[in-house]
Amino acid sequence: GIEYQKHYYPGVRQALVQKVQAAMSDYRYQHVLRVEAMALQLAEIWGVDLEMASVAALVHDYTKERSDDEFKAMIATAHLDADLLNWGNNIWHGVVGAEFIARELNITDETILTAVRQHTTGAPEMTPLSQVLYMADYVEMGRDFPGVDEVRNLAHTNLAASVGWQARHTLAYLVGQKARIYPLSLLTYNVWSTK
Ligand code: GDP
Ligand code: FE
Ligand code: FE
Ligand code: FE
Repeated sequence: GIEYQKHYYPGVRQALVQKVQAAMSDYRYQHVLRVEAMALQLAEIWGVDLEMASVAALVHDYTKERSDDEFKAMIATAHLDADLLNWGNNIWHGVVGAEFIARELNITDETILTAVRQHTTGAPEMTPLSQVLYMADYVEMGRDFPGVDEVRNLAHTNLAASVGWQARHTLAYLVGQKARIYPLSLLTYNVWSTK
């Protein structure tokens, strides 16, 4: 792995890797390592700091296996919007997950925390790091869905267009499932789908 020198995490990469591995199943841990590899590829192309990309990727699903009760308690503790209580793990592990990551892993960089907050839904305004994490999560080498090769290639050639591709396809998928759409997912689609 890359050597941490800029202190986005107060320790060596291997120490962060161990904490992440301990927080989840092996299945999800392998996904996280593949997201890191893809995030580093994309970061190099798009001029994003490699250490930031590594840290953001390693922690992005840190809380995905926590109980609903833990998320509800953190929504209160961190004084987050009470509307979050109307949603579930898919939305919480990014938005609320960032609060656990800040407190338990001592990651303070707001660009990294915001990229984690935005990794599931995207957002109307996304930094290059946020775009890289959102895309790396979607096109890591273990992902397999119709069009994955096309959108993986697009992430390497036109990052903004690939964000739009994901927002459009995820929205269509969720509608097909009769799933509820988190408003931010719609805003992401409106802003990015035509870039
Ligand atoms: P993962 O954590 O690596 O599995 O990936 P993500 O964090 O990107 O997504 C987690 C889940 O949230 C996926 O199944 C998405 O389809 C789902 N998701 C994304 N946006 C929304 C939304 O607006 N509403 C709902 N109900 N689910 C969503
Ligand atoms: Fe996730
Ligand atoms: Fe994602
Ligand atoms: Fe993920």
